[in-house]
Amino acid sequence: MAVERTLSIIKPDAVAKNIIGKIVSRFESQGLHVVAMRMQKLSARDAEGFYAEHKERSFFADLVKYMTSGPVVLMVLEGENAIAKNREIMGATDPKKAAEGTLRRDFAESIEANVVHGSDSPSSASVEVAYFFRQSEIVKKCCGGQCGCKS
Ligand code: ADP
Ligand code: MG
Repeated sequence: MAVERTLSIIKPDAVAKNIIGKIVSRFESQGLHVVAMRMQKLSARDAEGFYAEHKERSFFADLVKYMTSGPVVLMVLEGENAIAKNREIMGATDPKKAAEGTLRRDFAESIEANVVHGSDSPSSASVEVAYFFRQSEIVKKCCGGQCGCKS
């Protein structure tokens, strides 16, 4: 299996619930390393651009409103099979359909306010990581996320 990087977002509902640490701890305990991290309040433009693939969907305006309703935590996670592993830890989009022990099953209120975002493929991971982080803000792959060095 290859070492991959993926974009993770702790969404405004989770930040408001004060569960940033609980969420990060799930990733860490399941083998993913945080290799970049920043807290930010997204602008409407940030959120619209990030979710451009959904702009024709009926829920788009509400999604942008929700994603800009408070600060988020933006992270790059790294590890073996990180893209699929992150999605597995997150659970299904709709918390009612999410498997037991997943973040969305345990913490999400609704299909909209569902606690976390994770890239869904290698191509979206590379676009999404670059949307929020410069290369210089991500620790070097050679360190496995452990040494804190910057590229
Ligand atoms: P995921 O985040 O699991 O990849 P999608 O990419 O399909 O899911 O949707 C992006 C986000 O849009 C979801 O995480 C959720 O916040 C919101 N969303 C998705 N479907 C709906 C829906 N039917 N109604 C309201 N919000 C939705
Ligand atoms: Mg998605």
